[in-house]
Amino acid sequence: MNCRFCKIITQNSKQIIRETDHTVTIPSNPKLMHGHLLVVPKRHIEKLSELTKEERADLFDETINVQEKVLETLAPGCDISQHFRPYIPGGASKITHIHIHIRPRDLDDELYQKVQARENDVFTDTKENELEEYKNLFRG
Ligand SMILES: [Zn+2]
Repeated sequence: MNCRFCKIITQNSKQIIRETDHTVTIPSNPKLMHGHLLVVPKRHIEKLSELTKEERADLFDETINVQEKVLETLAPGCDISQHFRPYIPGGASKITHIHIHIRPRDLDDELYQKVQARENDVFTDTKENELEEYKNLFRG
């Protein structure tokens, strides 16, 4: 398998900065800012729903541990995200092995100035019919 994360894990790479029973934490490469870390399940998993309950608990607990360390030491804020984008075309950044991004954030930081400052025009209020649509998604 040609998975960058599986290689890091199986080769016990020096990039691994923390390890639990089911996860490793590594620096993001490429990174968006200093302290941009990834919490990665040790098993090659492509969607969160493929995690066992034990793996889910370990991944979530470790994400919280890493976030708390970031908040104590690197920045007053922190974003956490996980993506499932099998539709991204090619490129070096295509990774199918799930991972949790932990991004230290500060007021008006570089990411905000370059990207998110423009998001103000994107947000809209949720309408009543949308609420019904979303509720219907989860009705049996
Ligand atoms: Zn993998």
